[in-house]
Formats: sequence, structure tokens, C-alpha cells
Amino acid sequence: MKLPAFHVLHRLLALAGGLAMTALAQAAEPPVFALTSADTFLASPLRHLPAEDASDSLGTRLKLVELDATQRAWLSDFVHEEESRCGGYFAFPSRGEALDFLARDRSLEGVLQPAAASYVIDSQPTVAPWLPQVSEANIRATIAHLSSYQNRYYQSAYGLSAAHWIRDTWLALGHGRRDVRVELVGCTGCSTQPSVILTIDGAELPEEVVVLGGHLDSIRSGAGSNTEQFAPGADDDASGIATLTEVLRIALADGWRPRRTVKFIGYAAEEVGLRGSAALAGQFQSAGINVVGVLQFDMTNYRVGVPYHLQFITDYVNGPLLSFSYTLFDAYLAPLGLIRRSITCNYACSDHASWTSKGFPAVMASESGDTDYEFFPYLHSANDTLAFIGGSANSSVPFAQFGLAFLGELAKTSTRPQALLNDSFESDAALPQGESVRVALPAR
Ligand SMILES: [Zn+2]
Repeated sequence: MKLPAFHVLHRLLALAGGLAMTALAQAAEPPVFALTSADTFLASPLRHLPAEDASDSLGTRLKLVELDATQRAWLSDFVHEEESRCGGYFAFPSRGEALDFLARDRSLEGVLQPAAASYVIDSQPTVAPWLPQVSEANIRATIAHLSSYQNRYYQSAYGLSAAHWIRDTWLALGHGRRDVRVELVGCTGCSTQPSVILTIDGAELPEEVVVLGGHLDSIRSGAGSNTEQFAPGADDDASGIATLTEVLRIALADGWRPRRTVKFIGYAAEEVGLRGSAALAGQFQSAGINVVGVLQFDMTNYRVGVPYHLQFITDYVNGPLLSFSYTLFDAYLAPLGLIRRSITCNYACSDHASWTSKGFPAVMASESGDTDYEFFPYLHSANDTLAFIGGSANSSVPFAQFGLAFLGELAKTSTRPQALLNDSFESDAALPQGESVRVALPAR
């Protein structure tokens, strides 16, 4: 049950704070065309705006509505505060792009398509030794750093700096690996903040791609498009990035080489309409890339008063990959005394939905909230700090362990001799520096 008085007061305070900050540094934000569920739209303060009826391939009733910067922020605030979830809508620069997105929607295929790879669990020699290596202190340190920025808002200099820090941190973890590279991928016309992609080339099945991701941006309800807003975003979603970083550290420190290509992605601009992930999923689809599985971590570090350590989202995800995820959890995490559950999260809940919309198999895991809230109650507020999520990263440890199981079992371990891998290496150093930057460090 929600407490209406709390929400009214909270909204007034947020509005006051937003107005105060508006005078400081309001970024220019062009209007967007938002696609959200009809249920969300009709319950929101925007319900009186003219909107077009639509539906996706799953039959979900949608509304397409043009929103200026203030209205876009209201939609975000409503989804965050009243529905207690992170995403909630797709945003496009034009009506034509929104309609094109709908016309090409393949969510039904994304949900129903059969297993894109052999979902066999046979990599215990790789995965089992990884699990005890997960360091709560490492995850905590990354959350502490990422939540130390004023914000990681998609239009702010802080948000750009945070993306660069993630790139540099992941690059350092891949130091000496000729099969590892990191790039920044911009989203022209939709975000000044780039997404970050670390790639480990597959040694045997390089054309098959496994993706692990979380969003790197943050936002504060009531702040509009203010680039000075205080949005520490420790749980949402510094925790997801920190968890992925620990997964990456352990796999690379082990000298692990995957059979399939692996991509770790920090998505830009998730909080303002899943922009970074939607752009990337579209690019992957256009390039004909065979993505065999996507795992999304959005909010992994809050756990109070619930017996569950991890919850899987059951809508807008691929059925066979979700079943595989359950099996993975039961094989590797349940024996550690960890407990899972499942919930729905509705339309455009987080970046996994971008992949699903393009027909790719995706799953999403998040923390399990109490009976009042599905997620951390202070998401998108100034209180989304490490202190408010308990001062430790204990709750993220099972997510890192699940990420390691997903990585090891879906990408598999290469048995190809390392010498052959090195022979096939070609330097990326001559590529121009720009919006998409590919960086390869010399071998040790
Ligand atoms: Zn989030």
C-alpha cells in the first residue's frame, strides 16, 4: 500500500527543489515522442494531453505522446514515484521514429523465440572457482565512486565524466589482453553521454554474442533537466555497474577466454526513455549481429525485510533464457542458501526491453523490495546513497555470482590455444579518436 500523504508531500518538495534548481542550470532538451503503456499514461498527470493509441506485437495497449522537457520529466517522476520502477517509456526525437520503432517491434519474437544457443550447464570447472572470489569491498568501492558524482545525468558533464571513468576502469581490467577492447558509443541526437562497451572477442564462435549490462546514468525526480541536480544513484544503477565490474574483474583475472564474444555494456540515458540501449539494440539488429543472450542488472544493492536475494523479471523477457536463468540460479546460487523470486515490471521497465523489442533474447534481474515497494524506496532521490542502502554491498554479491554463472555458462570457455588468439590480433590503435573510440592496450 502506498501512503498518499507521503507522495503529495514528496512531490511538493521535489517540485520546490526542482524549481529552485531550474534557475541554476536547465539543459536545453528538445521535445520527445514517448511510448508508454496506456495504463501508465492514463494514471499519470499527463493523461489530458493529446495522445495516439497504439499497441506492440505483444498486444500491450500503448500511448504515443509528444512531451516537452518539463512533461518528459513529469512522466519520469510519475513512473519513478507512483509505480516505483526505473524506466517506463521509450523516447524518440520524432514521431516518425517512434512509429517506425512500433512498426518494427519484435517483442513477441523476443519473448517467444526458442533458445538461441545450447542452454546446457556444463562449465562448473570454470564457474565454481569464480563464485567465492566475489568481493563485497570491490563492489562497494565502485558504488562509492560512482555515487560521488553530483549526478550521472545524461546531459551533464558529470554524466560524461562517469562514462569515461567506467571506460578507464574496464580498460585497466583488460590490460594486456589483445582480445579485449573498450569503446564509447555515442547516441547522436539523443544523448551527450555515451554508452560504454567492453568486448572480449570470442575465440571459437566470435559471431555469437553474449551481453551483460546495466545503465550508467542517474536522475532525480523533480529536477527536470537540470544538469546540476543532486542524483547520486548509488542503488540505481551504480550497483548494477559495480556488480558487472566485479564479474569482469574475476573473469579477466582468471585469464578466462570465452568461446563466444562477450560484451559488457554501461548504457547511457536509460532514465529518460531507454535511449542508449534502444540505439545499441537497433545498431546490433541492423548489423545482423547474432546476440544469443542479454542479462540486465538494474538495482542490485537494496534488501530489507525480504527473504529473497534476487528477483527475475518475467515480462518482456525471453522465456527459454529466463528458464535457463532459473536453472543457473538453482545450480549455482541455491546451494549457497540464496533464494530467488519472480515479478512483472511492465512496459519499458529497463534496458532489457530495448533488446526484446528487436527480437533478441534478454532477461533482467533486480533486488527484491518489501511489500510496499518493488524496488528501493528512495530511487531517483538525493537519498539514493550508499549509506541509505546499508553502507555495504552485501546485497550485490549474489548478483555478481549470478552474473559469473551466466557469463561462464552462456559464453563458455575456449579451449583454443592462446598462441592462435594472439596470431589473429590486429591493432586498433590507428582508428580515429571520436564518438566511437576503440582502445587496445599492448600485450603484457
Ligand atoms: Zn535504474
